[in-house]
Amino acid sequence: MSSSGLSDSTTTLIELKRLVQEFVDERDWGKYHNAKDIALAINVEAGELLELFEWVRENELPALLGDPAKRRRLGHELADIMILCLNLASAVGFDVASTIGAKLELNRRKYPVELVRGDYRKYTELRNGLKKEEGASGV
Ligand SMILES: [Mg+2]
Repeated sequence: MSSSGLSDSTTTLIELKRLVQEFVDERDWGKYHNAKDIALAINVEAGELLELFEWVRENELPALLGDPAKRRRLGHELADIMILCLNLASAVGFDVASTIGAKLELNRRKYPVELVRGDYRKYTELRNGLKKEEGASGV
């Protein structure tokens, strides 16, 4: 368990959303937290996350991820992004679980297992490829 006493197995999303909201309210930062500015902040924090990997070769990744200081920074940047995502969900009134569930369902339809399994390409490219193959074979 972390020093905060929170863990995935015992902390609910609504508790996390409440903790983030308390943090914001205690500082009277709600006046700055409109959807646009939170979305911008998510991008800024994503940039900070990427900075950690900038110029790192793929074969250097295991050492980076095993370095305690860099691993701590990775956790901090990831937390910044997740906190802001919860903040944005609250600001616009989204239920996190149902929003993720709905998008996963959409993604399942966009990326059917039989079409994409083991292939990273975007669904449009795969569907176009499928059409070309169908056309070539006369199907
Ligand atoms: Mg940060």
